[in-house]
Amino acid sequence: RPPKAPPRRPRGKPRFSRQSAIKKSFQQEQVVFSTPVPADPTVAIIGGGASGLACASALAARGVRAVVFDTGMHGLGGRMATRMVDDGRRLVFDHAAQFFTASDQRFQKLVDEWVDKGLAREWRGSIGELEAGGHFTAIPSSTPRYIGVRGMRPLADAMLPEVYQNDLIKVVRPSWISKLEPFNGLWRLFESEKPQGQYDAVVIAHNGKCANRLLSTSGLPQLTRQMKETRVEFYLGTTCGI
Ligand SMILES: Cc1cc2nc3c(=O)[nH]c(=O)nc-3n(C[C@H](O)[C@H](O)[C@H](O)COP(=O)(O)OP(=O)(O)OC[C@H]3O[C@@H](n4cnc5c(N)ncnc54)[C@H](O)[C@@H]3O)c2cc1C
Repeated sequence: RPPKAPPRRPRGKPRFSRQSAIKKSFQQEQVVFSTPVPADPTVAIIGGGASGLACASALAARGVRAVVFDTGMHGLGGRMATRMVDDGRRLVFDHAAQFFTASDQRFQKLVDEWVDKGLAREWRGSIGELEAGGHFTAIPSSTPRYIGVRGMRPLADAMLPEVYQNDLIKVVRPSWISKLEPFNGLWRLFESEKPQGQYDAVVIAHNGKCANRLLSTSGLPQLTRQMKETRVEFYLGTTCGI
């Protein structure tokens, strides 16, 4: 007799419930690695936005190898995303971060390098909020504001090349890491069911919802709980530059 087919999932029901996965993960035992991190570790960084790239670059500066996984079809940078029409001759359009400021000395140093290379420049136009009816309220700023000359994405690309040459950073893209699993003192990564290597440490460098999802099945209930309890306050608004 053929085996009984499993009951069909009702249509329209989500295949994954974050809440139930998080609840389930609280019942897991916390994974504890007893072996120390080796002297020459390899770190997996999940997310190739500004945070992930800054992390890879900082690790490489200390001689630590990293593999950056990112979903980007068009390039790295995450929310430093730029679209071009006619190879940028007709339009260069930043559809996430449009400008940035530098309040940290180390970031200011990087921004100065971008300015010297002609990748970024100071934006002296006004920036503010445009309301329905056309009323524009400028948002004053005492610190300089910068934009990417050819959009934001080239800045993301510029965060890596030098250290790339040292072979310390590898980029895997497009790749969506769907599972993080402890195994023999290492972290195994999977893209769907495809193994994507094993690493001494993992950095999750993307937003909370996806990070919670990865954590919720990775044997780290305490961390998952902490992440779930983290509250972020959002400011909703639209910024435009004139
Ligand atoms: C519309 C908009 C306007 C903004 N304007 C400004 C602004 O004017 N000034 C400013 O300073 N900031 C602005 N921001 C915020 C700024 O863009 C972000 O704070 C910053 O880029 C976040 O960087 P990040 O590296 O933390 O995350 P992200 O840039 O989101 O990068 C995370 C990357 O990880 C990838 N990823 C996620 N899950 C996985 C996975 N499982 N496997 C592999 N890869 C994964 C994502 O696809 C993404 O590429 C804006 C954001 C938006 C959306």
